[in-house]
Amino acid sequence: MKLWRFNGGLPSLAEHKNESVNLPIECSNVPSKLVYPLRQHIGNAATPLVTVGDKVLRGQKIADAQGLISAPIHAGSSGVVTSLEDHLIPHPSGFSAPSITIETDGLDTEITHTPCDDFRRLSVAKLVALIREAGIVGLGGAAFPTAIKLDNQSKARHIETLILNGAECEPYISCDDRLLKERAERVLQGVEILLHMLGAKQAIIAIEDNVPDTFKSIQSALANNANRAITAVQIPTIYPTGGEKQLIKTLTGKEVPSGNIPADIGIVSINVGTVHAIQQAVIDGKPLTSRIITVTGEGVNTPHNLEVRIGTPISTLIEVCSGYTHAAERLIMGGPMMGFALLNDEIPVVKATNCILVASKHEAVTEKLAMPCIRCGLCASACPANLLPQQLYWFSRSEQFEKAENLNLFDCIECGCCDVVCPSHIPLVQHFRYAKSALKVQNHEKHLSDIARERFEAREARIAKDKAERAERSRKKKAALKGKPAKEEIDAAISRSKAKKQTNTESKS
Ligand code: SF4
Ligand code: SF4
Repeated sequence: MKLWRFNGGLPSLAEHKNESVNLPIECSNVPSKLVYPLRQHIGNAATPLVTVGDKVLRGQKIADAQGLISAPIHAGSSGVVTSLEDHLIPHPSGFSAPSITIETDGLDTEITHTPCDDFRRLSVAKLVALIREAGIVGLGGAAFPTAIKLDNQSKARHIETLILNGAECEPYISCDDRLLKERAERVLQGVEILLHMLGAKQAIIAIEDNVPDTFKSIQSALANNANRAITAVQIPTIYPTGGEKQLIKTLTGKEVPSGNIPADIGIVSINVGTVHAIQQAVIDGKPLTSRIITVTGEGVNTPHNLEVRIGTPISTLIEVCSGYTHAAERLIMGGPMMGFALLNDEIPVVKATNCILVASKHEAVTEKLAMPCIRCGLCASACPANLLPQQLYWFSRSEQFEKAENLNLFDCIECGCCDVVCPSHIPLVQHFRYAKSALKVQNHEKHLSDIARERFEAREARIAKDKAERAERSRKKKAALKGKPAKEEIDAAISRSKAKKQTNTESKS
């Protein structure tokens, strides 16, 4: 299969997958408490369906989607709801946010699931609803509600190609790699469900060429699969080849235009972990309550991949990995390139958590003293999104956010390539994150002020209309009065008539 090369990227990023990839996936134990932030996906926070004191079962829906871009949340084990209040969340801001806490009872009692023997008997609309109801979001880290990506029929979009993203380009993360090694058949079943739903002609499973064993596992699973529309392809290991637009370019040569989504050019791209979750939801009837996470770094004694209940405190994961080493310096959620530091290990695993990196001093990216930009242009050459990081930096730093937006700031995938190559050690991505947040706040405020202005203008128009109607009524009344004889005239006419009558009477007599 012909492959293309996206611009920029880092072909020689040091690998650290071997530390975690060699041990099989271990199922983590049930922790004594599970914490569920209500916003753990892109879009609106979920609305709680439980209150303090409620007993819940594993798989029970405890918070419902609010609006189209949202996802429900399900309990990861049985127990009692002990609080509905703010809890520290895994977010670069270090903020707390509304969360549901469940004290588990150790019984792990599950709700009854309804498995499906033949997904082809279900309509696409039913499958979309099922995936939405299972709370599935992109498990590659984006956490975008998956059902929206798959609901192409209602949008009358035609999908040609389904891409299964198994390209784990962050140096330390190996959870998708282990998943494909151990559960290739299940992933393939998920791919068949997606082909059925999207009506795509082909499905391409993309795997980087630095994990040849994983590629072999998929190939042998494909040899036993009758569906010839599914192929596996090895792609060059270039960071960030797992980025959606970069992977599409690599496999198809197509560019997703700025402001568009892959479906606009007939492509849907889904992470392989998400495909596995879809298989479990459709075939086993189980909602998303757990996921596979890489726990790695020089700061843990036994780095490996764990299947973890969403809501589990990170401290539990560290215990399963035989505890911290003396080298543990910093907790990072995600990889060293795109991850962010966590305040402590009581923060829970959320749907987007694909890696916990317990970094040692030399693994943690330490900020160096930033020097002035020397306009070398290295950042632009390294940018896989074809942006101009130097200009974006100037506009972000000088708070000319609209100018940064006009230079497609929102196409920045925050991959950090520009940071790595910048000889002046300028923390470019930090500036871009700040500018994006500021623009989101500005846009939100503008949206609110637009609504207020529209309401004011509507009120003004209503008042003007009422005034005009009143004036019109008054004008008509006057016109009507003008048409009638005045009272004096009527009185004079009556007097004249009476006088005439009297004259007639007198002349007769
Ligand atoms: S790499 Fe750094 S120094 Fe060079 S142009 Fe970009 S921001 Fe400036
Ligand atoms: S962080 Fe953004 S601007 Fe920098 S290289 Fe990546 S996509 Fe380009």
